[in-house]
Amino acid sequence: MKAKAAYLLGKRKFVIDECEIPECRDDEVLIRIRAIGICGSDVHYFLDGRIGDQIVPEKFIIGHEASGEIVAKGKNVKSVKEGDRVVIEPGISCGKCELCITGRPNLCPHVKFLGTPPITGAFREFIVMPEKNVVKIPDHLSYAEGTLAEPLAIALYGIGLSNFSIGNSIAILGAGPIGLSVLFCCENGGAEEIFVTELIEARAKMAQKLGADHVFLADKIDIEREISSFTNRRGVDISFECAGTQQTITQMINITAVGGKSVIFGIPAEDQIFFDPHTVRRKQIPILTVRRSAFTTEKALKLMCMSNIKFGAIITHKFPLEKIQDALELVASRQDGVIKAVIEP
Ligand SMILES: [Zn+2]
Ligand SMILES: [Zn+2]
Repeated sequence: MKAKAAYLLGKRKFVIDECEIPECRDDEVLIRIRAIGICGSDVHYFLDGRIGDQIVPEKFIIGHEASGEIVAKGKNVKSVKEGDRVVIEPGISCGKCELCITGRPNLCPHVKFLGTPPITGAFREFIVMPEKNVVKIPDHLSYAEGTLAEPLAIALYGIGLSNFSIGNSIAILGAGPIGLSVLFCCENGGAEEIFVTELIEARAKMAQKLGADHVFLADKIDIEREISSFTNRRGVDISFECAGTQQTITQMINITAVGGKSVIFGIPAEDQIFFDPHTVRRKQIPILTVRRSAFTTEKALKLMCMSNIKFGAIITHKFPLEKIQDALELVASRQDGVIKAVIEP
């Protein structure tokens, strides 16, 4: 049996081709994919053909934010059945190494992460995953909303690393899907005051809609001065960098309170980023980095269900698999108010 898949041929060129429908082994499930979100990392692969030293092979399937329906299962699979709607956890960790055993499977050196070379990704109709890598989607969330569990899980994981607590003031630099995910989690989690900075108006508006208290267009306003004056020159408890640029990383440190914390979610295009060690040291700011997520996918789905805020609003565009080229071009261009685009094969 054949099915369709979207192959990336080096830089900026997709082709739709056939591939075999994989068979599932005893501990695996076969999933008919219904929705896949386009991630910033997919855009990096699309534009540059690589992220750092991870280089896309000649003909490769990317994509990792997927949800779908279980259509077959191996004989040992107990937790899900045919017809179940599930979100895919894209990281297949080994379960045996030191990092897996100590509860950090996201750092497993043997992890196979969907759509990261050489592991085939999810821009296709069918995929096989281990049973432990699927999480059921609650009834009133759609497949497309389900794909948001992946960026939300990363946000929740990074926020957890920062020890965020109720009443903290926070700043989010960059309101793309990850920045908006951090905003959604902190707004629901009881942040006292939330500052968001962003270059694109449509994203700034979305930040307002999701509950940010102060949203600044970063190229129109001196955001360091603004945040300083709103906080009586104190700065914020936690700054979340979600753009991956030198400028936002510098701002992140300058707007953080003495004794506060900074978290970097952004993936810079450059191989080196600089910061002022004197300011960091005098303020004693721990700078935390975030590698994907661990054990937060289910929480992300629950949060979407429980919240009065409709996080699904960040999905601005949907495309069939055949239009994946247009979809990636659009997300890369950041035109037409695009925030999250989802492919529905
Ligand atoms: Zn992603
Ligand atoms: Zn491991």
